[in-house]
Amino acid sequence: MTPAARALAVATAIAVAATGIGPAAAPAHAQSGVPRGLPIIRDTEIEQLMRDYAVPVLRAAGLAKQNVKVVVVNDRAFNAFVMDGRHIFVHAGALFDAKTPNEVIGVFAHETGHMAGGHLNRLREQLASAQTASIIALMAGIGAMVAGARSGGGAGEIGMAAIMAPQSAIQRSLLAYVRTQEDQADHAGLKFLTATHQSPRGMVDLFKRLSNEMLFNTRYIDPYLQSHPMPADRVAALEMQAKASPYWDRKDPPELQMRHDMMRAKLSGCLEPPGTVARRYPLSDQSVPARYARAISSYRHSDLRQAIAQMDQLIQLQPGNPYFYELKGQALLEGGRPKEAVAPLRQAAQLSRNAPLIDVMLAQALNATDNKAVAEEAVALLRSAVSRDPDVPQAYTQIAMAYGRKGDLANADLAAAQAAFARGDAMTARQLATRAKTRLPVGSPAWVRADDIVNVRPGNARAGN
Ligand SMILES: [Zn+2]
Repeated sequence: MTPAARALAVATAIAVAATGIGPAAAPAHAQSGVPRGLPIIRDTEIEQLMRDYAVPVLRAAGLAKQNVKVVVVNDRAFNAFVMDGRHIFVHAGALFDAKTPNEVIGVFAHETGHMAGGHLNRLREQLASAQTASIIALMAGIGAMVAGARSGGGAGEIGMAAIMAPQSAIQRSLLAYVRTQEDQADHAGLKFLTATHQSPRGMVDLFKRLSNEMLFNTRYIDPYLQSHPMPADRVAALEMQAKASPYWDRKDPPELQMRHDMMRAKLSGCLEPPGTVARRYPLSDQSVPARYARAISSYRHSDLRQAIAQMDQLIQLQPGNPYFYELKGQALLEGGRPKEAVAPLRQAAQLSRNAPLIDVMLAQALNATDNKAVAEEAVALLRSAVSRDPDVPQAYTQIAMAYGRKGDLANADLAAAQAAFARGDAMTARQLATRAKTRLPVGSPAWVRADDIVNVRPGNARAGN
């Protein structure tokens, strides 16, 4: 694959089959600002950790009010990038490769530097104002990123396309421009780390590793380097500045390191084949993360009984950990035992203070018990979940099922319409919403929502809750 094509593959990753982290690892159709088809991992435990990594840095950058979300992309390659002012995208591969929280926080600090510097907007302007034929040819080489910029969908950072294409004055100026942005992002990142009393060491270590990889391995260039070119002198400059930080030797708090290790164990158990998990976390390793990885791997690849026994051991070790109950509930639910899944999921919901994704899974289990008596509870859980997190895949489908159980066909149609809308099927959405309208009292809030879907123009925003 040419470098340009590779950079493009990063910007608009092809959807892969959903993998089973948390209740849903699905293409983020409904998620606003997230490219369609980008395979997203949704998981409460990981998302909570990402928030805890990112929020201090974002606050130091003055971006606290922008409600920036970290989106985890289901891709093994090391990468992280920003495309607009509201999301930091990070590949599962980067989370897995980072040995410490500090390394991930360093990457976030750099990305936040791009965001705070308004680099994306300025790059877009620069491309938009380009008029010469050669610039257009160059832009064609950058492909989808430029298309994104033109449509206002957000340009990625300029990739290796710019570096590999034939030398020209324009190109050199663009390259210099990218290089300047990288230096600025490094510099800003260092500032945010210092402001939050965190060490810049993780950022330096990680960039060093990446830059060595580039030197010694000519066949494989990491996607991170394509969007953040990292010549040795840049890394050297960064290291010199970083070593002056008063927090250079500061370590991550042990409890944060533990959460990081748990996240990596989860990613391994969920995404890697059982043989790899067994090699990485051999039975001789009786640490909680190792047990976690093995329990997840067992549930995904071998028998449910063994997996449940491993999960029960974990629960015994840490009875206050919501994610162990969530895992057990998920395993039972997917194993076709929804009645048994309800109790652990209730526990997980309570311990996580009703994390939306966990509430949705509990509702899913309640729905699957085929018991009319709990349909009302399922509806309430789901409604509350989507009001707090509108991007939960499957939530509307579950709402439709719960209303169906209750015999409330009007609301079932409306929720099914919203589900169709969220997955991008506007025609089905319109048909269902039209039918819902005939069953709802004219002018009622539900009728208005149905009416909104009937009248929405293609390509428009999502239907409300
Ligand atoms: Zn960068």
